[in-house]
Amino acid sequence: MSLLVVGSVAYDSIDAPAGKRGDQLGGSATYFSLAASRFTDVKLLAVVGEDFEQAHVHLLEKHRVDTGGLERITGGKTFRWSGVYSEDYTSRTTLSTDLNVFEHFAPKLSEDYKDAVNLFLANIHPALQRDVLDQARRPRFVACDTMNLWIDTAREELGAVMRRVDLLSINDEESFLLTGLRNIHLAAERILEMGPRFLIIKRGEFGCALYAPGRCFLIPAFPVTNLVDPTGAGDSFAGGMMGYLANCPTVDFEAIRQAIVVGTLVASFAVESFSVERLAGFAPDELRQRQARFQDVTGWREVVLPIR
Ligand code: AMP
Repeated sequence: MSLLVVGSVAYDSIDAPAGKRGDQLGGSATYFSLAASRFTDVKLLAVVGEDFEQAHVHLLEKHRVDTGGLERITGGKTFRWSGVYSEDYTSRTTLSTDLNVFEHFAPKLSEDYKDAVNLFLANIHPALQRDVLDQARRPRFVACDTMNLWIDTAREELGAVMRRVDLLSINDEESFLLTGLRNIHLAAERILEMGPRFLIIKRGEFGCALYAPGRCFLIPAFPVTNLVDPTGAGDSFAGGMMGYLANCPTVDFEAIRQAIVVGTLVASFAVESFSVERLAGFAPDELRQRQARFQDVTGWREVVLPIR
């Protein structure tokens, strides 16, 4: 089933303990597309500037990403983001965000894009997420991501989007910003009241939690030992998850439980290199092996409790 993503296509500059990289291919929609395209065909809606390299368009196309919705602005400059990671990778600070061509972006869905069955609103200004929602005809499942910048500066627009999506995917800091609650389970209850039917709270190396009213499912992250650049982990997670769900006849709590395992495994590749190198390059067998390892790491049998 078709899957449409709207989000950023970017050049990122990263300062991480593993090294520094300038102007590497990034962006929420880029990571998402390359992850999801392992499981289904993806339609990409985004904007880039004249400086966007043709080789990067080819990379997306090689992965069967439909770039018909990737608008190129003559004379414009591609979105740029830069960030620095702490010595132990536990925190990331944004150094700069240059919206460039995104400042005047007005998403326009072609007839084909309007009929997408599954829709992912990757991290981008909530007003743009809303514009896409307004044009989509009748998607059966809509998920969305966001970030602290939009929670701080566009909370009302974000609230309106949250009321219209099936699933919201955010990290624990963002759940705190949205609710003021440090306990993620309490925060989840509050966020579900804001609109989405399902909620995922990502916790970096500690994994993620899936919530629906009265239900919760928790998994750890895949045990990665060669962490290089966590940029795009969340988007790759979402891409793996939505790519899997696009293959499911129905999307319910059980399907999403499976989907977040796929997302977790895919994200584990994304963080092993700068940019999209490992994400775009891992082999299907490597994914199968990681699933077996993850099953071993997380599986447990019922304990016969010697309780007195
Ligand atoms: P993640 O590490 O999953 O949070 O995603 C990082 C990606 O998000 C980077 O490749 C950035 O280009 C992109 N990004 C960062 N800030 C923004 C923003 N304000 N709007 C859209 N995309 C962004």
